[in-house]
Amino acid sequence: MTDPSLYNVLYIDLTEGRYEVQERKDLFEKYLGGTGVAIKLLEEECPKGVDPLSPENPIIFAVGPLTGLYPLASKTVAMFKSPLTGNLGESHAGGRSAAAIRFAGYGAIVIKGASKTPVYISIYNDQVRIKDATALWGMRSSYAVGRVLREVEPGAGKRTIMRIGIAGENLVRYANVIVESYRHFGRLGLGAVFGSKRLKAVVVAGTRSVKVDDAKAYAKVYEEIYKEVVGTEVMSKYHVLGTAENVLPLNAIGALPTRNLMQTRFELAESISGELLAEKYLVRKIACTHCPIGCIHLASLRIAFAPGHEYETLIVPYDYEPIYALGSMLGIGSADGLLRLIEKVDGLGLDAISTGVAMAWATEAYQRGLITDKETMGLRPNWGEDVDVYIKMAERIARRANEFYSALADGVEVAASKYGGLDFALACGGNEVPGYHTGPAALVGFLTGMRHSHLDSAGYSIDQRALRALMTDEEMVRQLVEEERFRNVLTSLVVCLFARGIYKLERVAKALEPLGTKVSPEELLRLGAEIVRTKAAFKAREGYDPYRLRIAKRFLETPTPLGRLTEERIRNMIKMYVEKAGLSDVYAPSSRG
Ligand code: SF4
Repeated sequence: MTDPSLYNVLYIDLTEGRYEVQERKDLFEKYLGGTGVAIKLLEEECPKGVDPLSPENPIIFAVGPLTGLYPLASKTVAMFKSPLTGNLGESHAGGRSAAAIRFAGYGAIVIKGASKTPVYISIYNDQVRIKDATALWGMRSSYAVGRVLREVEPGAGKRTIMRIGIAGENLVRYANVIVESYRHFGRLGLGAVFGSKRLKAVVVAGTRSVKVDDAKAYAKVYEEIYKEVVGTEVMSKYHVLGTAENVLPLNAIGALPTRNLMQTRFELAESISGELLAEKYLVRKIACTHCPIGCIHLASLRIAFAPGHEYETLIVPYDYEPIYALGSMLGIGSADGLLRLIEKVDGLGLDAISTGVAMAWATEAYQRGLITDKETMGLRPNWGEDVDVYIKMAERIARRANEFYSALADGVEVAASKYGGLDFALACGGNEVPGYHTGPAALVGFLTGMRHSHLDSAGYSIDQRALRALMTDEEMVRQLVEEERFRNVLTSLVVCLFARGIYKLERVAKALEPLGTKVSPEELLRLGAEIVRTKAAFKAREGYDPYRLRIAKRFLETPTPLGRLTEERIRNMIKMYVEKAGLSDVYAPSSRG
C-alpha cells in the first residue's frame, strides 16, 4: 500500500491560530495527489462566490505518490480561487517544495482564514507554528526575506521557503510566491491570496522517509526512468540552453510576440536568445530536488553602484517566458537591460508574464494617447528605449502607486476596460497571455485551458506540428483535449511536465505498482478526464463561460505562422473543445444566445 503519510492533510486556520491533521485516504486513493486531490479540497473548502481576497479563500498545496521517490516528481501544486480571473487558481512550483512537504509527513496542506498581523508559517515534521512576520513585511526584496528565514528556521538543505514580495502584500492580482529564490508559483495571483491573509511566507522541512511496498521492483523501475532521463534528448533539451532555446526558433517562424503582438518577429531576438545568454551571462545551472536535469539557468550580472561604491553582482534566473514577456513584448533587445528587469520583477514578487503583458499594453496605450504622463506619473514608455522606465513602472504596479497603476495591478483587462484599448489587451480568460502566437491551437488552448496557460494543453506544439503536416481544426481540438487529460494525470502525481515524454501512461502505471497502487493506463486517462471535468465545474460555478470569452482583436489582426485567425473559427473550435472534452453539460450554453 501507498506510504500512509501521503494521506495526511494538514489544515491550518490563521484566524483561529489552530491546526489539525486529518487522514484523507479517500481523496488520495481516488485522485492520486497533486492537482486531483487539490481540486477536491478546493471544492470542499472554497465557498461559492467567495471574494478571492477574503479569509474564506483557502490555499491548498498538494504533492503526490511519486514525490520523493522518482526522478522529476519534483513539483507541488497550489490551488486557490484566483483573484485575477475570479475562478480556478492553479500554479505549480518545484525547488525543494515537494520533497519538503512529503518528508515533513504530509500529502497536502490547507491554509484557511486570515491573520490580523503579518505572520509566517513554520512546519517542521509535526511541529507547526504560526510566527510573527512584522519585521519581514514591507521588505523591499523577496530575496532578502529568504535570506532572513534561512538564518532562523531549521532544516537547511531540505527546507522550502515560499514567500511573497511587496506585490503580494499590496494584493496585486498577479503577485507570485517565490520558492527558493529561483522558482515560482507564478501565475494567477497566489501571492495576493497570501497577502490577503497577511501571510508572508511558509517554511516547510522534514526528516521522515517514504516507504515503498516492493523495494526490488521499485529499484528496477527507478533505474529505467533515471537512465532514460539522463540518456535521452530530454536531458540536453532542458539542461543545455533550457527553455530559453525557444526564442530563436519561435522568432524564425514568426511566432514570437513582439511589441504587444504588433509583430511576431523581433529584430533583436539574437541579443536576448538562450544562446547569447548562455555564452555571455550563464554562471550556474541548478535543479529542483530529485531532478537530474537541472533546467534552472542562472545569469550573473554586474551592476555599478553609485560612484565610489564599486559593483554588485546580481544572480538572475531566466527562462523563455520572462524573456518573451519582459523582452520582446516590450521591445527590449539588450540582455543587460532584460536581466535587470527580470531581477526587479522577481524581487517585487510579480508574475513576469502578467507584468510584461500589462506594461506592453500600457506602452501602446501611452503611444495612442489613451493614457498620458498624468497616469504614468511622468514615465514615458517607448518600446525598449529605456529599461529604467519599465523598472520604475514595475515598482509602481507593485506599490499600486496611483489609480492607473492600481488598475494595472488588477490585470491588463481591468486597466483596458477603464482606460480603453481592450482590442490590444492580451489576456485570455482574464489571464495575461504566454508567448506563443503559433496558430489556432495555442489560442484555443489559452482560452479553454483550465489555467489559461500554455502548460494546460500545449497548443503551441500542436500548431508547430500542423506547420509540418496539414491538420484539421477538429484534429487540433482532439489533440488539445487529449493532452490536457494526460497532463492532469502527471500533475496529480506530481511530475514535472518537462518529463512528459518519459512518464507515458504505461510507465506511470509501472511506477505506481511497487508503491502499492495498481492502475491501468486506461484508468489513468479516465481519471485525467474526470479531474479536468471537476476543474471545469469549479470554473463554471465561479462564472467562467467559454461561450462568452473576450477575444482581443490583436490576436486576429497579427498573422500567425499558420495564417491569420478569424473570430468565427476560434469560437467554433471552442465549441468543438467543449463537446470533445465532454463538458457540454458543465458549460451549458442555455440562455446565452
Ligand atoms: S526539469 Fe527543471 S523545472 Fe523540471 S524538475 Fe527539473 S529542474 Fe525542476
